[in-house]
Amino acid sequence: MPNDATVEKFKTSLRGELIQPTDERYDEARKVWNGMFDRRPALIARCAGTADVVSAVNFSRDNRLLVAVRGGGHSFPGHSVCDGGLVIDLSPMKGIRVDLAARTARAQPGVKWIEFDHETQAFGLATTGGTASDTGIAGLSLGGGLGWLSSKHGLTIDNLISADVVLADGRFVTASATENQDLFWGLRGGSGNFGVVTSFEYQLHGVGPTILGGMMAYPLGRTKEVLRFYREFTKAAPDELTIYAAFVNPPGGETVAALFCCYCGPLNKGEEVISPLRSFGRPIEDRLGPMPYVSQQCIFDEGFPAGSYYYTKAGSLPDLTDEAIEVFAEYAATKPSPLSGVLVQTVCGAASRVAPDATAFPHRRFPYAPVIVSQWLGAADSEKNIAWARDFWKALQSFAGGAYVNDLSDIDGERMRVAYGANYERLAALKKKYDPDNFFRLNPNIKPTA
Ligand SMILES: Cc1cc2nc3c(=O)[nH]c(=O)nc-3n(C[C@H](O)[C@H](O)[C@H](O)COP(=O)(O)OP(=O)(O)OC[C@H]3O[C@@H](n4cnc5c(N)ncnc54)[C@H](O)[C@@H]3O)c2cc1C
Repeated sequence: MPNDATVEKFKTSLRGELIQPTDERYDEARKVWNGMFDRRPALIARCAGTADVVSAVNFSRDNRLLVAVRGGGHSFPGHSVCDGGLVIDLSPMKGIRVDLAARTARAQPGVKWIEFDHETQAFGLATTGGTASDTGIAGLSLGGGLGWLSSKHGLTIDNLISADVVLADGRFVTASATENQDLFWGLRGGSGNFGVVTSFEYQLHGVGPTILGGMMAYPLGRTKEVLRFYREFTKAAPDELTIYAAFVNPPGGETVAALFCCYCGPLNKGEEVISPLRSFGRPIEDRLGPMPYVSQQCIFDEGFPAGSYYYTKAGSLPDLTDEAIEVFAEYAATKPSPLSGVLVQTVCGAASRVAPDATAFPHRRFPYAPVIVSQWLGAADSEKNIAWARDFWKALQSFAGGAYVNDLSDIDGERMRVAYGANYERLAALKKKYDPDNFFRLNPNIKPTA
């Protein structure tokens, strides 16, 4: 740790607060969404703006401090907090500006999707964002960004127009299709490896404000039938329709097999599009209908509260074969915790028509992106709940061909090669150019080795 005078000098360089372990707000400030991580940073710099970020990067580099970067704090592996070291906490940076004429929005990295959607939906606009409203735009955007608008408008990164970045050497640059193009390529799927993004500029689209959304739930005994239907239905779906299959427990209830939908086209056409779903078997719950887009964006909020313990496994499947469906049926029925869930997300439509090397996100040809989310309430139950997710994944692994970097709890070197796929070497070369000392390493890490 640097001496007191050096820390004091850093503190006075900030417009935001510098929180230390003796501070009353310390315990609250070091908390992240995943309750598994109870880490104690030496310092937390709550940045008020880009100048604070530059100052924090320079201070930690000059004093050889480990750095964690925090946007929305939802990293499954708890990357946004560290033991010792400095947390560059961007959560106070909440600015959002919508440009109605250009149909774009600029947002700072402390913004969460609920805040972003609130500002853009006021004008009937949106971009692809996460399906839990409390997640940060920053981490989600940098990993790829799957959401209810993916099939129609692509991943979040496909809607990123530019980003302002503070690099490891403290330089401030803009990356876009015309400036620092190599960095712009890497930011779109390469996670937080290349610097701290202080502003995101997104393309917006006319969405809602009312869409056709919600879910249908079926008894768990019908899992195989539901997944087979889901497979065929997703293949035939128009771009306006994004569908996820899930195994979740309604509050206090038994596990159900559910199909969650969002149709973002004209409502009268939507009913026709989802009619096969209406006529497929009898659901135990039908909650499909017109609803505000912002409500659809909160649809998973209740199921994933902050503070629980979480462990995930995830992958990308080229198809939902009958053999893979057998695995889902077996493990969905043996969850040790009713809080755990499985979500089969999709990379279809517009998201799938982007070339795998056009951005750093390589899994464009894998329509199914399942994430197994183990959730429980305390350390005593960790072993069995982690084991369930691991065994589930092991059984599914032979059907998978990749992994979405934002959905992984385990981020060892081998897994990173799978997650970045054929883009890994190009990313490693970029890492060497922009962060040769691996200063930004608490992330799904790319080694600067190329
Ligand atoms: C409940 C829940 C629901 C989710 N739903 C979806 C979903 O629908 N679609 C989807 O694609 N993903 C989803 N995810 C995964 C999500 O994309 C990742 O957890 C993401 O990392 C969250 O971003 P954050 O800013 O909240 O996280 P943080 O923990 O703050 O950051 C995550 C990572 O990004 C880095 N980072 C954060 N901000 C910056 C920045 N400004 N510059 C550089 N690096 C930065 C951090 O260092 C860290 O490595 C979900 C996760 C959760 C927990």
